[in-house]
Amino acid sequence: MARYVFITGGVVSSLGKGLASAALGAVLQARGYKVRLRKLDPYLNVDPGTMSPTQHGEVFVTDDGAETDLDLGHYERFTGRAANKRDNITSGRIYSDLLAKERKGEFLGATVQVIPHVTDSIKQFVLDGNEEYDFVLVEIGGTVGDIEGLPFFEAIRQLGNELPRNHCAYLHLTLMPYIPSAGELKTKPTQHSVKELRSIGIAPDVLLVRCDRPIPEGEKKKLSLFCNVRESAVIQGLDVGSIYDAPMAYHNEGLDREILAALGITDAPEPDMSAWNEVTTRYHNPEGEVNIAIVGKYTGLKDAYKSLSEALTHGGIANKVKVNLQWIDSEVFERDDPAPYLEHVHGIMVPGGFGERGSAGKIEAARFARIKDVPYFGICFGMQMACIEAARNTAGIKNASSTEFGPTKEPVVGMMTEWVKGNAKESRDDKGDLGGTLRLGAYPAQLTRGSRVADIYGSTRISERHRHRYEVNMDYRKRLEANGLLFSGVSPDGTLPEIVERTDHPWFIGVQFHPELKSKPFEPHPLFTSFIAAAMDQSRLV
Ligand code: GLN
Repeated sequence: MARYVFITGGVVSSLGKGLASAALGAVLQARGYKVRLRKLDPYLNVDPGTMSPTQHGEVFVTDDGAETDLDLGHYERFTGRAANKRDNITSGRIYSDLLAKERKGEFLGATVQVIPHVTDSIKQFVLDGNEEYDFVLVEIGGTVGDIEGLPFFEAIRQLGNELPRNHCAYLHLTLMPYIPSAGELKTKPTQHSVKELRSIGIAPDVLLVRCDRPIPEGEKKKLSLFCNVRESAVIQGLDVGSIYDAPMAYHNEGLDREILAALGITDAPEPDMSAWNEVTTRYHNPEGEVNIAIVGKYTGLKDAYKSLSEALTHGGIANKVKVNLQWIDSEVFERDDPAPYLEHVHGIMVPGGFGERGSAGKIEAARFARIKDVPYFGICFGMQMACIEAARNTAGIKNASSTEFGPTKEPVVGMMTEWVKGNAKESRDDKGDLGGTLRLGAYPAQLTRGSRVADIYGSTRISERHRHRYEVNMDYRKRLEANGLLFSGVSPDGTLPEIVERTDHPWFIGVQFHPELKSKPFEPHPLFTSFIAAAMDQSRLV
């Protein structure tokens, strides 16, 4: 039977709870265990799909088409296990399923309540489908004390009693802030946070204490005493140089050892950390560097492009170079000439995006890359904007636009109304719901033999994850191809363009899908490896 580790956070958010969970998962996996990571999100949205990336960060899409929390991206990158729609749930989803049942009369006259009905649904979700795993790590979003998180904390408290002995452990992540005027790391916020947790019936087994400098022994003792956690289980979580240092760093501090001890496991095999050593050695010993401009509109919050910046880093790891990211708000190019911003970069990335704002600047970035022969990588919206740019400036279709921006006579990018999913047909119109109705998840694509992308993938059949409502219009294919923009990847039925590439350019590729979602530090995505290699070539010219 699977063992459960519940991971909660206190003091402040953004302590890297998702990363810590992923790192713990990675080390347990390195010890030979089968590990699953899951996330419980207390907010009321049914999923994060409709939330602005500038508020909540990137939406991570799974193969089976779920729009999930970005922490699932960390889980995948650290363990290599593909996440699925059963790995993330929100209060919104729990309530909407529960209320649908209530409307059908399935509660047979009972009063539907937070305890037991909501908590039972949470527990059912947590326990479901874990047969093949040794460890299930369950992260609870938010911090202890949040009102909306209470049913989740209550549910995991109950599970502590219901699971067999030695099958449940609680890991609590906190912060020790350094107060410069006192010259000390302070324990009080952690004490308060644990007190809060204990007041709702959860006693943490292990504390992972984030800090920017080593915790003196005396302070560790104090935390142990006041928080009622064994001294050896007060784990120092020092800031690390790269997130990929975390598995080794936490292992060296004894995090996995203490979790195993809390679960009564004394005979665990030692972890084989060789893959992680290889990744971090390559990361910390680059033989060169490249500058990549990311021209987007959510640049104010780096989490909005989490998988993307990680995938670029992976491309650097593969090529043994440091990748410097220059974040540029695309709206800048609606006022300023892009040249001073882009002249010295070695590659230009235009990532996914929604809505008209900022699109003109992205089109400018694609134009600059095309005429100056700078490597260009357009993802989803970045591909669509590259096609509009090519239509306007190479194929003479002056009014080329996207129907996403309003009615247009030249819909080079248009809304998809029908597509094939497996053996079924999906259809949409512009009056439908916004949530959960995009073309989501893994779809296959057929690549043109002899194309650059077929060479990069080493295959003509691929599968990648999607998240879009609009699509480049096949009616314009001939005119765009006649001007050097080859449609080198299409859906198997030939109706949807998946990849475009310029045949007259050193490296210019647009993809309708999100390859960044599948890249891993120990298995960098071939498109990112190739893009960074092209940027290295460019760096020798600039
Ligand atoms: N807004 C575009 C669409 O819906 C692109 C989406 C994206 O970049 N993920 O098709």
